[in-house]
Amino acid sequence: HGSGDWADVDSYLTGVVVHPDEALVAAVEDAAAAGLPPIEVSPGQGKFLMLLARLAGARRILEIGTLGGFSTSWLARGLPADGSMVTCEYVPLHAEVARKNLDRAGVGQLVDIRVGAALDTLPGLEGSEPFDLVFIDADKENNPAYLEWAIRLSRPGTVIVLDNVVRYGGVLDPDGDSAIQGTRAALKLMGSHPRLDSTAMQTVGAKGWDGFALAIVT
Ligand code: SAM
Repeated sequence: HGSGDWADVDSYLTGVVVHPDEALVAAVEDAAAAGLPPIEVSPGQGKFLMLLARLAGARRILEIGTLGGFSTSWLARGLPADGSMVTCEYVPLHAEVARKNLDRAGVGQLVDIRVGAALDTLPGLEGSEPFDLVFIDADKENNPAYLEWAIRLSRPGTVIVLDNVVRYGGVLDPDGDSAIQGTRAALKLMGSHPRLDSTAMQTVGAKGWDGFALAIVT
């Protein structure tokens, strides 16, 4: 069985269970048309994030890595009407595409897009209310720093999700590229930080073999 089977099963599950609406389908299409890389979460993963936000009763969400606003749209849809979300994106074109997609998805008024390198924009969030959920999905070499920021901007009970931690098994290579080094260092921190209770899960699907780590701040 190859990844073709995983993609077929993902399509089946998306059609039978997930039901992304037209705005979410169009968000992925328009991002591709604008030349953005197709590295957004799958619909099933996006809806998982939305349900996680609801399970956590999240009123404030932070995302690092917006791309075209696909995961952002799902997460924002997990917020109450008076909730809010901040999402950090380095590339202005990505932020522009995301803005249109978020407005069309009906959640634009809930989302503040901070354009710039996240390590430059995250300090501007200090001193505001803590976030209830943080989704980390940007440049993987900075994952340990993003995880530290997520903890700094959290409260006990905050949920932290770190994406793409398996990388087709590449995470096993201690001499891997900078993305693997950053992921390994972040996973080590996830498993040893005194304020985190963590797990990590492998996934297969439309995006191949990967996984995510999930923690709750204690
Ligand atoms: N979360 C998105 C989704 O699932 O729809 C996908 C995000 S994509 C994997 C990673 C994004 O992080 C890209 O849009 C990239 O431009 C952005 N990025 C890369 N380096 C960054 C940095 N230093 N600060 C903020 N964003 C960055």
